[in-house]
Amino acid sequence: MPETTPDRYSRQILFKQIGAEGQGKLARARIVIVGCGATGSVLASLLARAGVGTIRIVDRDYVEPSNLQRQSLFDESDARDSVPKAVAAARQIARFNSEIVVEPHVADLVPKNVDTLVGEVDLILDGTDNFETRYLINDYAVKNSLPWIYCAAVGSYAVTMNILPGETACLACIFPESPRGTIETCETAGILNSAVNLVASIAATEALKLLVGARSNMRRTLLSWDLWTNEEAEVAAVVPRAGCRTCGERVFPHLAGEGRPHITLCGRNSVQIHERERPIDFAEISTRLEPLGNVRHNDFVLKFWREPYELTLFPDGRAIIKGTTDTAIARSLYARYIGS
Ligand SMILES: [Zn+2]
Repeated sequence: MPETTPDRYSRQILFKQIGAEGQGKLARARIVIVGCGATGSVLASLLARAGVGTIRIVDRDYVEPSNLQRQSLFDESDARDSVPKAVAAARQIARFNSEIVVEPHVADLVPKNVDTLVGEVDLILDGTDNFETRYLINDYAVKNSLPWIYCAAVGSYAVTMNILPGETACLACIFPESPRGTIETCETAGILNSAVNLVASIAATEALKLLVGARSNMRRTLLSWDLWTNEEAEVAAVVPRAGCRTCGERVFPHLAGEGRPHITLCGRNSVQIHERERPIDFAEISTRLEPLGNVRHNDFVLKFWREPYELTLFPDGRAIIKGTTDTAIARSLYARYIGS
């Protein structure tokens, strides 16, 4: 790691609850941010600027024009080139703090890679947009006694909770069942960038407390706001709920991959296919697809357009198919154009 520029962190060191000792702890800290959309962008930006020494960023998606309203690490050229968010984030962070280590991973967090992608860190931060991944993080974190911070934002509403396994409630204590189907998504309700910044700022501060050892200062509630209606709520999460299946009975079905279908992504009419892991030769596939529609690729993604669908393929064989929410159609398009 390069030497730290003198004075880079001077204003943060002056804050006595961090000080030089806390700054040293931050430099030695390792965190992972799962999902680098709007919330993940702000978390990564704040914690990279604050000097967290190693930041792993896991994201399965690529930058699009509709992201730029709120996903503060990305610019128009990232959207034009469909750069994967993890890669674009790492490039942008290197421009303002080249003295920390950023490890971008273009991947969907699933049970079989959770140990590699989320293991060996001091803290997991939630920048995801779905409960399926959050339950996977919760199972992994509770099982391995790793702290994590839940964050979510939709419309003008934002919510966050610190999960300190063995101390506080876990995600399943508060939400035993996925609220999917009963809550709105960014696709139906839209999203205010300020709601994202609020929740990520609070979570980033909680992360700093944990990493410098100020654990007793961490909030032990599920905290939520609606920035438009000015409603605020806190639900106690000081201790685990009696009988919680996850942190009480220590049953971890999400680590075993139960109930993981294709995923419909937030904010888009699209389906992700990630069950067919295979190495992909972009040049070969490009040549094959050229007569069938528009196709282009860079080092990270291949895009293929054939009305009314848009297929985005990643080097590990994962694909995002836009233009449908029907998994059967998505599967058949994948088989037809990429292979079964
Ligand atoms: Zn629990």
